Amino acid sequence: MKEKLYSAFIGKYGDGGDIRMYFAPGRVNLIGEHTDYNGGHVFPCALTLGTYGVARKRQDSKLRFYSMNFESIGIVESDLNDLVPDKKAGWTNYPKGVLWAFKERGYQMDCGMDVLIYGDIPNGSGLSSSASLEVLTGVMLKDLYGFEVSLPDIALIGQYSENNFNGCNCGIMDQFASAMGKKDHAIFLDTNTLEYEYAPVKLEDAKIVITNSKVKHSLVDSAYNDRRNECERALKELKEVTDIQALGDLTEEEFEKYKEAIKDDVCRRRAKHAVYENQRTIHAEAALKAGNVEQFGKYMNESHVSLRDDYEVSCEEIDVLVELAWKIPGVIGSRITGGGFGGCTVSIVKNEAVDTFIEEVQKGYQEKCHKKAEIYVVDIGDGAHRLS
Ligand code: ADP
Ligand code: MG
Repeated sequence: MKEKLYSAFIGKYGDGGDIRMYFAPGRVNLIGEHTDYNGGHVFPCALTLGTYGVARKRQDSKLRFYSMNFESIGIVESDLNDLVPDKKAGWTNYPKGVLWAFKERGYQMDCGMDVLIYGDIPNGSGLSSSASLEVLTGVMLKDLYGFEVSLPDIALIGQYSENNFNGCNCGIMDQFASAMGKKDHAIFLDTNTLEYEYAPVKLEDAKIVITNSKVKHSLVDSAYNDRRNECERALKELKEVTDIQALGDLTEEEFEKYKEAIKDDVCRRRAKHAVYENQRTIHAEAALKAGNVEQFGKYMNESHVSLRDDYEVSCEEIDVLVELAWKIPGVIGSRITGGGFGGCTVSIVKNEAVDTFIEEVQKGYQEKCHKKAEIYVVDIGDGAHRLS
């Protein structure tokens, strides 16, 4: 892989100078969905799939970007002194946004750079290729320009750029997982305080299996913003009756006690999901730590039901995939993962059931939805780092 990327870089930009290579992973969230902007917990892990970047500083202030995943676009040029979002800049708005956010924080880049990107993570399917591209850019800038910046800060800068430069109001989970991932561990992150703990994922006789529905419904962005607004309304009403900062501050019992303060039924259901999902994530992490993978799987299934019925971010294709998985003996748990309205499911599947899973899920999905699902048996990898 490294050789292939080096020669691609040299082919595009020419040889010589200090050429460096970086990697930032995508992520899958095991449980704790739509809790990261509600001050709750999430439990993602970094994948060994992700985004690679090769970079070299330039003498002038030019920025040149090329992605092997978007070959037909060719090299996209920009300039350090012209960091504004621009539709025509396409995918390069992600790295440009990160450069802009570093500048906003007072970091000075004395020259531009040439960058080549390659990703082996499917784009737009909820495994956070965009966050991996942002974190990759952050790690690249830190190393190339010698900036003093921590990995959690790189995650925050990535989120800031996605929020303010790319117009997507995402929480901190994706960037944090990409920056802070650890091989064979999931990250138990309190999104309110950014306190975190690594939990070993020891699945001796099981695998993490991701199923890509290959659908992305157009609702995604608007529905995401609607959910955020509904949760904010619920929180505002709850604050009139109890002293909380975020929905994640409530236990299930407290929610039941105060829930009538939320007047609108839809907002109440959204808040219920945020509260219960946060508590479920806390219990699920404890179950995994205690070695009770079966119980962890039950929480994953409950999470799906809550996302389907109360938060309403699933869709027909995803429900078909999850229900097919639930029927297969040896499936410990299965749920929607990521923002919703398409994208991927995550399942924990016993080793001996993986082949059956792939066969049955693909067959059933083809029959019911007339589409071909892509299935990846994944490993948990390290967070973003320099490769060479
Ligand atoms: P997700 O983050 O779930 O994969 P998004 O829609 O948020 O989906 O981000 C996908 C976008 O990120 C792509 O359309 C592209 O603009 C950018 N992107 C991701 N990976 C790459 C890559 N390898 N090369 C260029 N752009 C990429
Ligand atoms: Mg994204």
